[in-house]
Amino acid sequence: MNIRGAYDQNNIFAQILRGDMPCCKVYEDDHVLAFMDLFPQSPGHTLILPKNAGRNLIDTDDKVLAQAIIRVKKIAIGVEKAFDPDGLIITQFNGEAAGQTVFHLHFHIIPRFKEQPFDRHGKGNPADREVLHAQAERIAEAIKQIEA
Ligand code: AMP
Repeated sequence: MNIRGAYDQNNIFAQILRGDMPCCKVYEDDHVLAFMDLFPQSPGHTLILPKNAGRNLIDTDDKVLAQAIIRVKKIAIGVEKAFDPDGLIITQFNGEAAGQTVFHLHFHIIPRFKEQPFDRHGKGNPADREVLHAQAERIAEAIKQIEA
């Protein structure tokens, strides 16, 4: 599959956006949905999906990207407040060869903690959904404080 393939309406993130599959929701507005990564590379690993996205960054409309990156920043500050990490990786992958596994554009926010092991992309273990829900609530509360 190359970078520019057709958008699959049944990819897992499209199903989550339609409400057909569950997620541990962190944030939602008209432009984006954010939820906890089910296979976190570190505690607090959060995904942000522009709702009106293509498969990846280069086939997504500029206006959608502009709205999304503002939310990425806000949610990153929420993750920072909730987890107090030493650093934050903010990344996204374009195409299978680059490591992309779900073909609806999304941004990863991955907290980094000094001296703590860091799972490689795609190598994390599935997390307990109860733990993820609790983490999502912490981040959501931090975002509400930012917005207040
Ligand atoms: P990428 O490899 O950049 O396409 O990222 C896809 C991410 O989605 C990976 O980090 C997966 O762990 C994560 N993921 C896959 N399925 C789910 C799901 N049902 N809920 C939450 N995260 C998921």
